Amino acid sequence: MKFSVLSDSLEKMELTTKRLELTDILVELIKKTPKNTISKVIYLIQGKVRPNFEGIELGIAEKLVIRAISKSSGITIKKIEDDYNEGGDLGKTGASILEQKTQTTFAAETITLERVYDTLLKISKLEGKGSQDMKMKYISSLLNDATPVETKFILKILLGTLRLGVAENTTMDALAIAFTSKKENRELVENAYNVSSDLGKVAEILATEGINGVLKFNTSLFSPIRPMLADRVKSEEEAIKKIENKFAAEYKLDGERAQIHKKDNKIILFSRSLENITKYYPDVVEKISNSINANEGIFEAEVVAVNANTGNFLPFQELMHRRRKYKLEQAVLDYPITVNFFDLLYYNGNDYLDKSYNERRKTLETIINEDNFAKLIPMSIVKNKEDISEILENSINSGCEGLMLKVLDSPYRAGTRGNNWLKLKREYQNELGDSLDLVVVGAFFGRGRRTGKYGTLLLSSYNSETDTFPTICKVGTGFTDEKLDQLFQILSNKVTLKKNPRIESSMNADIWFEPELVLEIVASEITLSPIHKTGLNMVRKNTGFALRFPKFTGKIRSEKMAEDASVGEEVFTLYKNQKKTDID
Ligand code: ATP
Repeated sequence: MKFSVLSDSLEKMELTTKRLELTDILVELIKKTPKNTISKVIYLIQGKVRPNFEGIELGIAEKLVIRAISKSSGITIKKIEDDYNEGGDLGKTGASILEQKTQTTFAAETITLERVYDTLLKISKLEGKGSQDMKMKYISSLLNDATPVETKFILKILLGTLRLGVAENTTMDALAIAFTSKKENRELVENAYNVSSDLGKVAEILATEGINGVLKFNTSLFSPIRPMLADRVKSEEEAIKKIENKFAAEYKLDGERAQIHKKDNKIILFSRSLENITKYYPDVVEKISNSINANEGIFEAEVVAVNANTGNFLPFQELMHRRRKYKLEQAVLDYPITVNFFDLLYYNGNDYLDKSYNERRKTLETIINEDNFAKLIPMSIVKNKEDISEILENSINSGCEGLMLKVLDSPYRAGTRGNNWLKLKREYQNELGDSLDLVVVGAFFGRGRRTGKYGTLLLSSYNSETDTFPTICKVGTGFTDEKLDQLFQILSNKVTLKKNPRIESSMNADIWFEPELVLEIVASEITLSPIHKTGLNMVRKNTGFALRFPKFTGKIRSEKMAEDASVGEEVFTLYKNQKKTDID
């Protein structure tokens, strides 16, 4: 398939933000794509080469791309940098520079999609000595044969700046329409995605076997399942209103969620955002098989740091000491953990997602042999407010965050948030009701004690409709000296020359960052703001939400991606709830 088929579609997609139009363009593209190329097209339109959980990233630095453009065009690096500073889009800059060149040389070889894909995949796997030079050679060899439009999109994919607004939702609509002619089949497509986390694979099955293939689509070991998520409630009363009858109350532990896949002695761990985190937990790989009485299984557990002497739970931050590149063996010894199982998704060849909570939990209890390292999260059946209060109290006293309340006859709804699971934290019972997870997008230089560091950070929420990061507040409190140093180090690697176009801000920060780092923030109130862009126009025209007296809790949510940050709707719900209390 010619790469121009894809780049022409991408060009059309860039000109619209309307979901229906985007879907139509995608449907047309999918129909034109041969069966054996479809997964590649699906990855590329999302700016990737493989599904997220494989951890293969392109993320090529701007500098390297500038060098490659210079090599292919013969134009100096300085001139390219100047053009880029003027235009602000390196993809476009590269395209226009190379356009001038193609006008003066003979037409180059037609470039195929397979060639572009294979080259990008090779680039993503290069590492170590000499890899930068190899990457540059690969890039400039593609640029030598690409037309200006192709160049623009190759560069955008390489740089990770291809933002077309084709979220996974739009792609699933398009796949359902293109392969089954019915948008209603979208739910089946989504189910397949929820259990595989791999839209490329789903597309390939649709192309080769049609909707029947998707119906047969099963959970498979070592492909992560998208996690089921909980709605939050503020009080025992609210929980009782939402779930009638009896339900299960489990302790809510403050650690890292891990989806553990096991086949004999092979163990892989995936995080909440489906990243492969096995390397941080060599002790789990070594020890957990002894505690699991099954040859094969997919389990969910909360991994929690514990005090080596008492076995008591320690806060989440302790666990994050393991997220280091060097001397990991030492961190494993210094920060011991326990693995606390709470769900069973697959067991010896059988899918458990459609089974009830009750059945999953009962089977889990027969499989896990508890010891000092592997545990079952404590669970009790509750039926009224008093039962919940008592267990909530016990859970807080044992160092947990609160409770997870689960409907007994509910299946595991992969990839969805709903009332079948509720979370009740103690802190929900006062002030805002919950903390928010916000993305650091910019900073203002510090004074006094903070000179030379970032004194105040500019934070954003996430807007999944537009795939952007609208600002919500500046935060300067809650930082210990140690945390300031740590944040400075992390953020120094994320500085960008310009504001990333996905950041929506009317403020001018002293310095801008790639929107990647997520922090946990509490605040005393949500107010309406003419400055900040979160939830713009939701309550009043040209007005967004801001946080009053925001404070960093000390938790860096390194297990969350920026796209997992709190969204405008969540802020709106908290805003409405606080209004109610005002009126009460
Ligand atoms: P969410 O996952 O709902 O988007 P979040 O990542 O901010 O939000 P929390 O609000 O703290 O997390 O609540 C859900 C998380 O609680 C789960 O993702 C899981 O890591 C953790 N957890 C702890 N104990 C349990 C339990 N017993 N059952 C399910 N999840 C639990």
